[in-house]
Amino acid sequence: MTTAELRPAAPVKGTLPASAAQAIWRGFRGRCPACGEGRMFRAFLKVADKCPHCGEELFHHRADDFPAYLVIVIVGHILVPIVLTVETEIAPAIWISMTLWPAVALVMTLGLLQPVKGAVVAIQWYGGMHGFEAAKKARALAAANAV
Ligand SMILES: [Zn+2]
Repeated sequence: MTTAELRPAAPVKGTLPASAAQAIWRGFRGRCPACGEGRMFRAFLKVADKCPHCGEELFHHRADDFPAYLVIVIVGHILVPIVLTVETEIAPAIWISMTLWPAVALVMTLGLLQPVKGAVVAIQWYGGMHGFEAAKKARALAAANAV
């Protein structure tokens, strides 16, 4: 085995996450799962090709529609009990219900979409899914050599 095979595919300036939860939290905050410093997104839902801080390749992700499905589930589980409680206990005027609930749902959806997508990309990165497999192997080799 040569030293080139032991070297990580992308140099990591920051610290690698200690756990999947830390990687997911970094992604949820819109940060690179590898270093936790660089911005993961170059636009609202466009993942940057590489981390601007450590150079970790992020274009391998295949989040597709999964973040949107997760946001629907999360917003639904939070909002439906609140709507049912308010509508049965307070019973506001219909115009209030017809303006308030769609607005709350829209704000929650737009607020959660990027963090959830970041978390999904981080899960894929940490698990070595899709094109992240080579980076995961490089991290494992680097960790084995560090011990
Ligand atoms: Zn990074």
